[in-house]
This record gives sequence, C-alpha cells and structure tokens, in this order.
Amino acid sequence: MFELHGHPHPEFTQRIRDWGFTAGQAARLWRCLYREFATSAAECSGLAGDFREQIARHAVFSQPSAVQISDAPDGLARKYLLALADGERIESVWMRFRDRATVCVSTQAGCALGCVFCATGQLGYRRDLTAGEIIGQALFMRQRESAGPDRPPLRNVVFMGMGEPLVNYDAVIRAARIFGDPAGLSLGAKQLTISTVGVIPGIVRLADERQPYSLAVSLHAATQAERLAVVPAARAWPLDELIAACRYYCDKLDRKIFFEWTMIEGVNDSLDQALAVVELLRGMPAHVNVIPLNPTDAYDGRGAARPGLERFRETLLKRGLPCTIRQRRAIEVGGGCGQLNPAAGAARPAAPMGPTVGSTEPSNR
Ligand code: SAH
Ligand code: SF4
Repeated sequence: MFELHGHPHPEFTQRIRDWGFTAGQAARLWRCLYREFATSAAECSGLAGDFREQIARHAVFSQPSAVQISDAPDGLARKYLLALADGERIESVWMRFRDRATVCVSTQAGCALGCVFCATGQLGYRRDLTAGEIIGQALFMRQRESAGPDRPPLRNVVFMGMGEPLVNYDAVIRAARIFGDPAGLSLGAKQLTISTVGVIPGIVRLADERQPYSLAVSLHAATQAERLAVVPAARAWPLDELIAACRYYCDKLDRKIFFEWTMIEGVNDSLDQALAVVELLRGMPAHVNVIPLNPTDAYDGRGAARPGLERFRETLLKRGLPCTIRQRRAIEVGGGCGQLNPAAGAARPAAPMGPTVGSTEPSNR
C-alpha cells in the first residue's frame, strides 16, 4: 500500500506517474491532501474516476482517530490522544499563541531512552512512527483547530512530543520536507524544530546534509556526571562529545542551537550550574530555553520555583548567553513537555509549583 502522506513531493509525483497518471493529476491529489485536508479518496474533489479508484484500492491515508481530546483550562492548548491504524496510541498537542498556532508532534510511540523525569521515557519504546503518521497528527489537529476565521493559522511544528526524533531520522526529515512544501502547508524551515536528547550521529548528519530546520538539544546539566543522573543516554553520547558535535553543527551551518534545560529544584538550578553552562557553551551561537519541570507519575523531583528560574536566567543573560523561560502549556491535562504518555490517563494534578511561570515566549515554539 502507498502511504499517501509519507512522501515528499517529487517522490510522490513519481509514484503517481508509475501508476500511469500525469504529473498534473499528482498535483491535484497533493492539493487535496495538504490544502483541502481530504481524509479519503471519496473526499478528493476534481480527480478522474479511475485515479480515485486506484487511490482507494492501493493507497492509505495516514489519518489517526481521536480517542480523547483534553482542553487546558486557559483555552490555549489542547491535548489529543490519538489512535493510529494499528491501534497504537500517541499524544500530540495544539498550542495557541497570539497570532499563530504551534503543534507538538510525536515521532515515536514511547521512547527507549529513559530520561528519568519524562513520562514517555517511563512508558518505554513501542515503535517508530512513519512520516505519514507524523504528518497525520498535524493535519488532524489543523483541520479541527484552524477552521474558523478567528483562529490563528498553524505556523510552527515542534518535534517535541513522544519519542526521540533523531533515532527515527529518515521519517522525521521526510515529514519536515512535507511540512515545508510550498504547495502544501508551506511552513518555513526555521518554524520546524527538531528536539533531540543529544543523539550525536544524528546531529552530525543534520549538519552534513545541511538540513535547514531549527535544532534544540536537551542539555539539562553542564557536567557529564550531573547529566548522566537524569539522562541515561549520556552514557552512549557523553557531554564533551555532544558539545563538540554541536559546535560542528553551528560552524558548518552558521546557525544557533536552542538548548533545553528542564529545571528541577535542588538538582540543576544552582548558581554553579548556571556558571558552568555559560562556560560550556562559550563561543557557540546558543539560546537556552529553561523548562520548569512538569510533574510525571514516576519522578519525585519538583519544578524550580520562580525566583530560582529567574536567578538562573539572569546569570546567563548577564554573561551574554540568551535565555528564556518556556511558557507552560496544557500541564493540567498532562500535555506539557515530557508528560505525554497515553497509558497515564488524561488528567493529572496541577503542577505543584503553582501558576504559569512563562515570561518570554521562546522563539522555537
Ligand atoms: N526526545 C526529544 C524530544 C521529546 S522531549 C528530547 O528529549 O529532546 C521534549 C522536551 O521535553 C525535552 O527537552 C525534554 O527534556 C523535556 N522534558 C521531558 N520531561 C520533562 C518534564 N517532566 N518536565 C519538563 N520538560 C520535560
Ligand atoms: Fe525520550 Fe526525550 Fe523523553 Fe528522554 S526526554 S525519554 S529522549 S522523549
């Protein structure tokens, strides 16, 4: 079966031509998929009968189904619990900002890398998603959320949901290419952000292939020992080698990297850590995004309180390292960073640290 949403434009057109149809017919179908959001052959308008029949018989639409939709109380985010064709469940999040919307998509069902504070890691690995399944999440949410005239348009996609994108590299890059296609969703490359726990071969490959997407690296600590305590993957990809790969990426592409720092009270919120990260990233075009820890079932740590977050940020800023504190979204419905886990149920208690800590909206979300 041909997965309609899983193929960048040239490859897609070639396949349709191999079927004996024209490039014009392929372009019409592409439009049905990415501009009209058709979810079945019957919904595709303007196609010849034999073409429609071929699609119905030999192609699949990567359309998930909604198991549960949970609204954040502030109305600014919505978490989707989705079922894929084989019944596998994943979660995706729609976030609304002033004049635009961002979707956070999953790249794997579960994750094998086991960061201690992450609900997806606590679930374990189930399988990789296909490019079509990654695209399908965004299209599904886009259809429901951007329909009305007063709804902000979809402008950003962050590959920050369940899973490690650079372990599923090919599918993620294919999905990014499709998101950026000018005849489809036409999202700018910088508006597509890939977040990695620090998979060194993937970072080097992004650089060597000159992939144009934004990159975020989950750092969380400025020494190998402290990082290893929360990110087991640091054993395979040690901090010094990770930073060398990041420098290689920045030099090669002349581009900055966003570094994510999930802030845990008493663990990585000290002045020493702040000074150490300034040293670690010295000379690199970098932007640190601090994410206050969100609660998950199997981790007892607490999110750092606001004064601690601000102190950390000030320390970095004073030394010339750009830093923002990420706005918290959908925490009450388990849709915040690191909370995605279809097995954990929809509702979780509110974060112990109280109200939203957001100050500056991070530029990569
Ligand atoms: N696997 C990728 C992308 C998915 S996780 C990665 O690790 O980067 C997206 C972000 O959420 C990462 O920066 C991750 O460190 C962060 N995160 C994980 N658990 C969290 C939690 N409980 N609270 C806040 N952020 C968390
Ligand atoms: Fe996997 Fe990222 Fe969660 Fe770590 S933080 S377990 S890499 S999804």
